[in-house]
Amino acid sequence: MSDTLGNKVSPIATSGGNGGQSNRIVNAAAVAERLPVGVLVCTVSTGNVIEAVFINNFAREVFGLTANAQIPCALDSVWSASDNHVLAGQIMEVYRSGREASFEWSIRTGVIERFLSSHLLPLEDHEGRVYQVICTIEDQTAEKLAERNLLHHAFHDALTGQPNRVLFRNKLEEAVTECQRAGQGAGVAVLIINIDRFQQINESFGHSAGDRFLISMASTLRRCIRSSDTLARLSGDEFAILVSRFNDLEEVEMISRRIHEAMSLPYDLDGNEVFTSVSVGVATTISSSTHPEDLIRDADFAMHRAKTAGKARTEIYQRDSHQRARSQFHLETELRRAVERNELDLHYQPIIDLGSGELHGFEALTRWIHKDRGFVSPVEFIPLAEETGVIVSLGRWAVDAACAQVKAWLEEVGPEKTVPVNVNVSGIQFARDDIASMVEDALRKHDLPGHLIRVELTESAIMANPTRISEMLSRIRKLGVKVALDDFGTGYSSLNYLHQFPIDIIKIDRSFINQLEEGNAPFKILEMIGMLATNLGHEVVAEGLEDMAHINMLRDLKFHFGQGYYWSKPVAGGEASDMVRGNLPWSE
Ligand code: C2E
Ligand code: MG
Ligand code: MG
Repeated sequence: MSDTLGNKVSPIATSGGNGGQSNRIVNAAAVAERLPVGVLVCTVSTGNVIEAVFINNFAREVFGLTANAQIPCALDSVWSASDNHVLAGQIMEVYRSGREASFEWSIRTGVIERFLSSHLLPLEDHEGRVYQVICTIEDQTAEKLAERNLLHHAFHDALTGQPNRVLFRNKLEEAVTECQRAGQGAGVAVLIINIDRFQQINESFGHSAGDRFLISMASTLRRCIRSSDTLARLSGDEFAILVSRFNDLEEVEMISRRIHEAMSLPYDLDGNEVFTSVSVGVATTISSSTHPEDLIRDADFAMHRAKTAGKARTEIYQRDSHQRARSQFHLETELRRAVERNELDLHYQPIIDLGSGELHGFEALTRWIHKDRGFVSPVEFIPLAEETGVIVSLGRWAVDAACAQVKAWLEEVGPEKTVPVNVNVSGIQFARDDIASMVEDALRKHDLPGHLIRVELTESAIMANPTRISEMLSRIRKLGVKVALDDFGTGYSSLNYLHQFPIDIIKIDRSFINQLEEGNAPFKILEMIGMLATNLGHEVVAEGLEDMAHINMLRDLKFHFGQGYYWSKPVAGGEASDMVRGNLPWSE
C-alpha cells in the first residue's frame, strides 16, 4: 500500500505532529504537512461518524482551522454542515466501496468561496478492508474565477458591461420559448435602438468622449426598462432591448416613449450640452415572427424605416407593409441589375392603318422576365424605374434596342416595307437626360433615318416642365423623328397642347375608347378631337381596340390608325419581323 507521496505507509499518526512515532511514519506526515495541496485523512468510526485523523497545513487553511485545533475530531465539527455534505458523502462512498474517486466541490469561509478539486484514495489493511481514506484538496479558485471572467467577456460588451449580441440572442430564444409555453395573449418584443448622428459626437468630441456617451446611454436605457427586460449593446451605437413578456403592446410603446423622453434631455459631455436622439425599431412575436433571428432582423428593418422617416422616432414592424417595402427594395436592386445585364426585352405591338388594314408601325414596350417572379409588368417596374432614376439607363437601352431592330428590318426587307417604331420616353428622362442627343446618337450609331423612330410621351410629362420639353421636342423633330402625345384623354387633356406643342401624333387612351358608344359624350369629344387633329395635320391613333364595333365607329370618325388586342398583343421581335415581311395574322 502506498500513499500519495509514494511512501509505504501504515496508519498515519493521529497526533498531527511528530509525537514519538517511527521515523518513517513521522517523515511521511511531515512531508504531507508541507505539501502545496491539502491532505486530509479520515476514518469512519462506529455509528458512521467520519473522523479526521490528519489535516495538513494547506487543508487547515482551506477549512479555516487554527493550527492548534484538536485532531482527531469529528468531520462535522471542522466546518459548516452544508459544505461538508459533498465531501462527507464522497468519503463514505469510498470507505464502503474501496474505489478511488475524484470530484469538485466548494467551501465558503466568511465571504470567500473556494473552488476545490479532490481525489479520494482508500487505504486497506492486509485483509483488504478499508480503514482510512486519504483526501487531497486542490484549490482551483483562481482558475475558476478566470474562467468565469472569460465567460463574462464572451457574453458581455466590454465598454458598457451589458450583455452582447450572443447573450441577447440566447435570452431572446429563452423568452420566446417561455412565451409560447405560456400560451395566447402574451408576446415578446425586440427593440433596436440606434443613436442618430453618433458619428458626429465621435468626430466633434473624440472617441473617448464617444465611449463615455455610450456608457451613459446604456444606463439611461436601463432606467427605461423593467428589471425583467434585457438591455444589450449589439454593436457600435446600436442597443437592443428584449421585453421578455408583454400582454399589451401599450407596455412596449411605453418603453419606447420613455426612451425618447429620456433622450430629449441634454447630455453633459465635458461641459458641453449635447442633444441627440435615437431611432427605434420594434418587432414583436405578434406582428413579426417567433424566430429570434427574424425578430432581430425585422426590428432592425423597422429601425431603418424610422431613420429614413426622419429619425427620432419609433417604427413598429408590421409584416405586410414591411414585406411590401422589402420586396420593393429587392425589385429596385434587381431592376438595376436587369438593365445592366441586359435582361430586358422589347416587345412590339402593331399599329394598323384603319383604312387599309395594313401595318403602319409598332409601339415598342419593355418586358422584364424575372428569373424567379416571371413576368413583371411595366405598370409595376416603370414607376419604380422612374422613382429610382433607373429609367434613364432603361430608356437609353430601349431606344438603342428599337434602333437595332429597325436597322435589321431595313437590311432584310428594304426601306419600302420597313415601318417605324415608337419608343416610350418618360417625363423623368426628359428632366434628367438630353433625350434629343440620346436619340441622335442612337440613330447615328445604327445608321438610321429619323423617320423610322418615333417618341411617345404623356401629357403629364409635358406638364412637369413645358418649356424644357418643348425645346427638346423641337430638337427631336429636327432629326426627322415624330413625336406622339400618349394616353391622351387621361390627364389634363388641354387642347392647348395640340397646337402649342411640337407634336405630330395623338394617341387616344384605351380608357376613353372603352366608354365609346354611338352618340354618347366620349363619342362626341372624339369626333371633335378627330376634326381638330386633322385640321392641325396630326395623325390620330386609337389605343386599346379590342372589338370590331369600336373599330367601325373610329373609321366613321375618320380616325387614321388603331392599336389593340383586336389585331395583336405586343409580340417578341421574331413575330414582329414576320409581320414586317408581310405575314399579317389579322388579314389571313
Ligand atoms: P402605353 O405606352 O400606353 O402602352 C400601351 C399599353 O396598353 C401596353 O401595356 C399595351 O400592352 C396595352 N394595350 C395595348 N392594346 C391593348 C388592348 O387592346 N387592351 C388592353 N387591355 N391593353 C392594351 P404595357 O405593355 O403593359 O405597358 C404599360 C405602360 O408601360 C405603357 O403604356 C407605357 O406607358 C409603359 N412602358 C412600357 N414600356 C416602356 C418603356 O420602354 N419606357 C417607358 N418610359 N414606358 C414604358
Ligand atoms: Mg405608349
Ligand atoms: Mg398609351
